[in-house]
This record gives sequence, structure tokens and C-alpha cells, in this order.
Amino acid sequence: MAAVCGKCHKPMEDGGVTVKGRHYHPSCYEALKAAARQRDTKSAGLATDTHKAAFEAYVCQRFNIPALTPMMAKQADNMREQYGYTYENMLLALRYFYEFDRGVDEIEDGRPSIGIIPYVYQSALDFWGMVRDVNTANAKATFVNNIVTVRVMGGSTGFAAPDYSMADL
Ligand SMILES: [Zn+2]
Repeated sequence: MAAVCGKCHKPMEDGGVTVKGRHYHPSCYEALKAAARQRDTKSAGLATDTHKAAFEAYVCQRFNIPALTPMMAKQADNMREQYGYTYENMLLALRYFYEFDRGVDEIEDGRPSIGIIPYVYQSALDFWGMVRDVNTANAKATFVNNIVTVRVMGGSTGFAAPDYSMADL
């Protein structure tokens, strides 16, 4: 008895493709793969949109503006194109700078700008990576003002912000 194709359910002939115990016509399998690729691309696009929205919301809230200025939007685009930054990581960089580094002092008399991102990007990723690692190790981190208190196995450690200023960069 001939097997049927896992996609079109018509009988298989010779030369089919077997994947994970299911049989497909080569053309049906290609169609399945193409559909899967399209889904992946679409969900990656949705993820980018979500991160973009979160990034923009944070910037607007931080600077108390209704929308990104054209300059900011241009800067964000440039950073994505030139450095391969993602909205997700740019948001992490801003959060790191303004919430855990010395951003508050730096910004009080400055005009709204996201130009700090490239200067703190790597430090921010290291920082969040460390937080994530600690969390992954079954610990709980609580964020209070500029201090990150990380509890590990009942103990606690305070991580100070890196000791440098904009002038040092
Ligand atoms: Zn088929």
C-alpha cells in the first residue's frame, strides 16, 4: 500500500521526501519549507515591531515628548544600519544608562538625545547579560534606583555602576 503525502494527501510515488517519518512529494515539501520561512520572517518582523514600539515608548517617556524627533528617528535608523543594533538592545542601552549608570546627572541640562547609545551599548549588553546570568542561576534581582541588588542563595551583592563618565569615553 502506497503512502500518502503529508501535505496534499495524495498517494506517494517514487522519489518522495521523508522527514520525521512523514512522506512528501518534493514539490509539496518545498512548499512547506517556503511557508515556514515566511512565517519565520513574519514573526521576526513582528518582534522587531514590538521592540521598536517599546524603544520609542521609552524614549518618549524619558524625554517627555509625544514622539521621537526626526533627528532621533534618523539616529536610530543609522545605528541599526551602520552598527547592526537592534531596537531591543538600544532600549537596553538606554535603560542601562538612565537607570543604572550616570545618565540622570548627564541629562538634566541637556537636550533630548539618544546619541549616548553607541557609547554605552557594549557595557549595557554586558550588564544585562550579567543580570540575566544571575537570574538564570536561580537568583532574584531587584532594581532600586541605581543599585542592583542581586540575591544569590540567600546572600546579597550590590553592583555599583561602572566608574566612568561621558568625558572618559
Ligand atoms: Zn504532496
